[in-house]
Amino acid sequence: MIHELDKLIELQRADSNLRRLKDLIDTADERRAAIEQKFEEHAFSIREVQNRHSDLKATRATLEKDIAQHKTMLERAERNLKHAQNQREYESAMRETEILQKQIGTYETETVEAMDAIETVEKELEERADEINSLDGERAAAMAEFDKELAEAKAEFAAQTAARKTTFDLLPANLAAVYDRLVQRSRDGVAVAEVVNESCSACYMRLRPQVFMNVRKGAEIVTCESCSRILFVPVGESQAA
Ligand SMILES: [Zn+2]
Repeated sequence: MIHELDKLIELQRADSNLRRLKDLIDTADERRAAIEQKFEEHAFSIREVQNRHSDLKATRATLEKDIAQHKTMLERAERNLKHAQNQREYESAMRETEILQKQIGTYETETVEAMDAIETVEKELEERADEINSLDGERAAAMAEFDKELAEAKAEFAAQTAARKTTFDLLPANLAAVYDRLVQRSRDGVAVAEVVNESCSACYMRLRPQVFMNVRKGAEIVTCESCSRILFVPVGESQAA
């Protein structure tokens, strides 16, 4: 295989790798946000149960306070009832007693309901205890792993960019220009395409036997008759090897 073709293949590999790395780096923010979002949704579902738990406990505390307060009022109403001086006072105290007893009854029913609900929520929290305890750790580990991969991609991108420049500078000016033009023209950034099953792997056009033979020889730069990309057969499959 001629030396220039070798360099072109090397350049293409470097550029494809740089393209992949650039994509990783460019999409880092949204990929990071997606991971955070996933953990946030999970944390939210846990917080929702925890909030329900504290709301229920607050409700129960309020009910207990209300019951205590109404019992005090009931004691006073019962004293009034006992010391009523006339029919009017008696009826008034009686009515107040009845209202207070009814209200206390309602509060007590609500307290039982709240306690049942608290029990259910506490059971759920107990069942999910491991999940709750490990969530923060898992989130931190996932973010650390993501940051590590991103830092590696950035470091590789910088190193590969320098290596790519060296390879590019070694190409004859005319080939470098052809390569650049092909890269800019294609959406996938591929200027040098491997021949697979006697076809161009970039545009899938089957090569004419004569063209295929020339590519296999590797003695000159051969381009695809369909997409103009520079063609090559990997070392080991070519006649030159
Ligand atoms: Zn082609």
